[in-house]
Amino acid sequence: MLYLIIFIFGTVIGSFFNVCISRIPNKESVIFPDSSCPTCKTKIKPYHNIPIISYILLRGKCAYCGAKINIHYLLVELLTPILLMLLFASQDAEITLVFFKYAIFISFGLIILFIDLYHYIIPDKLSLSLIVIGLIFSFLPNTDIGWMFAGIGALSGFLLFLFTAFLFQKITGKDNLGGGDIKLIAAIGAFLGVEGTLFTVLFSSLIAIVVLLILKHDRKKQFPFGPFLIVGAFAYILAGDTLIGLYLRLYNIY
Ligand SMILES: [Zn+2]
Repeated sequence: MLYLIIFIFGTVIGSFFNVCISRIPNKESVIFPDSSCPTCKTKIKPYHNIPIISYILLRGKCAYCGAKINIHYLLVELLTPILLMLLFASQDAEITLVFFKYAIFISFGLIILFIDLYHYIIPDKLSLSLIVIGLIFSFLPNTDIGWMFAGIGALSGFLLFLFTAFLFQKITGKDNLGGGDIKLIAAIGAFLGVEGTLFTVLFSSLIAIVVLLILKHDRKKQFPFGPFLIVGAFAYILAGDTLIGLYLRLYNIY
């Protein structure tokens, strides 16, 4: 039953995240999400604004002008509830302070992921708020990462990141890692502590290398690193212990 509530809640806030993804890069207000089609500007009727269902019924097109609705609308409305349910399960199906903490991180993370993917920027508004929220949680009782480790996490993430940025620069010959990424990694440090941050940086670098090799990415072109960091952090939050356990087992065998 709780899972169903989380699912429905997730699709609803997911559709708000979509508004954020579309509007924050254009510096538009997200407070009054009076949705309209970006192409024909027709106001969207409430029954065309139901998460997931509307997208499928309209086959990803505007009901008035037929313009394609960006796929992120569907993805975020699906990913938000799925990630929240996985988080809930990883917290032994209990609503705890730690659940709220990571629910906030996942929410910001999804918005940052898609904005960075489309625009190659990570708005300070989002990354800096996330650092502050992470540090606030580290001072609360019954949290998982205390303030000292959150602080060290943010700092060590920052240093490791500079090192990774240096390596990337050497390997790809391009300055792909920017200031937005550094603020994001500090936010990850504040939320995940030292161990989580090291895991995130290493894991996301690994996926980034694999993805770039698969896509045969043109070395001269820019690519956003933020989405990889977010995926790495999500992996740690939802399955960090399992993944580290697997790695250690591999290490024991060879
Ligand atoms: Zn339209």
